[in-house]
Amino acid sequence: MNEYDSSRIYDLTSKIGFEKTNNKKEANCYILNTCHIREKATEKVYHEIGRVKKDFRNSEKPLVIISGCVAQAESEEMIKREPYIDMVVGPQSYHKIQDLILTYQRKKQKINETEFDVVKKFDTLEKISNTQNKISSFITIQEGCDKFCHFCVVPYTRGPEYSRPFNQIINEAKSLVNNGVKEIILLGQNVNAYNYLYKNKNYKLSDIIRELNNINNLHRIRFTTSHPNDMTDDLINCYEDCEKLMPLLHLPVQSGSNHILKSMNRKHDINSYLSTIKKLKNIKKNIKISSDFIIGYPGETKKDFEDTINLIKKVDFINSYSFIFSPRPGTPAAKMKLNNSNESKNRLKKVQKILSEIQLKNNKKYIDNYCEVLVENKLENQSKYFGRNPNMTSVIFDSEYCTPGELVNVKIESCNQNNLFGYFKSNKVEAA
Ligand code: SAM
Ligand code: SF4
Repeated sequence: MNEYDSSRIYDLTSKIGFEKTNNKKEANCYILNTCHIREKATEKVYHEIGRVKKDFRNSEKPLVIISGCVAQAESEEMIKREPYIDMVVGPQSYHKIQDLILTYQRKKQKINETEFDVVKKFDTLEKISNTQNKISSFITIQEGCDKFCHFCVVPYTRGPEYSRPFNQIINEAKSLVNNGVKEIILLGQNVNAYNYLYKNKNYKLSDIIRELNNINNLHRIRFTTSHPNDMTDDLINCYEDCEKLMPLLHLPVQSGSNHILKSMNRKHDINSYLSTIKKLKNIKKNIKISSDFIIGYPGETKKDFEDTINLIKKVDFINSYSFIFSPRPGTPAAKMKLNNSNESKNRLKKVQKILSEIQLKNNKKYIDNYCEVLVENKLENQSKYFGRNPNMTSVIFDSEYCTPGELVNVKIESCNQNNLFGYFKSNKVEAA
């Protein structure tokens, strides 16, 4: 989501004359868009500011803005601790950035803008076109969270759940497709909790997917991140008849132990999670599931950890993420007794090893077979191309003919844990 926000912040600032530069030392405005989900985020910001200070030691100081969730959580404390920072702007108020910059340039007074103003944010953004033109682009459709898992800072930094108006989203999608975008990834902290009421109709994520499925020239649809409790039947049924909806679902379970899930306040258990997967597989046999795992959550016993390993093997998760529990200030879990840190590190290593083995095993199944690839770009200084298959796995392949945005059938010859390697001759697949 920060990538989407950064791109929108750029769209806004470009309207008051700013341009992107790849040369940091040339910048006269420096915006650091931050994430607060795990530890050390705040310290990383101060380290980065240290580097900026060094870079501009002998030249005019740029305007320094901290945006995103660290700005929201730390607010004016940041300006007090590091006077080199000129402005902090929270994730629900960055639509004001043009006015804030112009005001700063006039008055030269530090600014702290951390209001939750999400409705106005998207109303403002609607008027500024989204200039993302990558083959695969994001659209935020939902923000914030009302679930309050005990480890998570999102409900405090992004605020309560908010769903953008249905038409606003569809218009943004159509305009992206007109810019050449071929894959849309719908975003939300709880994307499948999307719920927008208009003229007595409750629009859900499934309505958005069905509408996008009808857009010509759009090849692929994905959405992330989903909460297991919001995988309703209308959404599951999209896998049956929306051919552009890709067969990889990111459905974080966090732990394989019911005891830990309860202590995390996840509001789902392993049985309900597995029965959702069963429903999905009944509808779409080849669907694959990815997940996030928190390892070393306070109170996680050896048995709880083994339950997680067993679940990983049972579900055969691909493309998953795992993190050591990181206590976030202000969350209930931060007050709990921490597990032994060495033990947690060992458990993380074990989990990552198993996830890698499963990933490699699944990648090997492609060898000597064809897979459909959405071509994203040509690799720099090479004759090879990069794209992704329907399960999001990177595919690097030789070809003389293809163009970014095309769907091609690549013959896979080899693989490692993260990539498939192959070649493409000329058997172009028509867009669905
Ligand atoms: N809403 C999604 C869900 O409920 O599954 C997750 C969104 S959260 C922004 C992304 C991931 O960060 C989580 O799935 C979790 O694994 C990880 N995460 C969040 N807080 C964490 C913490 N305190 N320590 C470690 N990992 C954390
Ligand atoms: Fe955080 Fe996801 Fe839980 Fe919401 S549902 S509190 S975003 S982990």
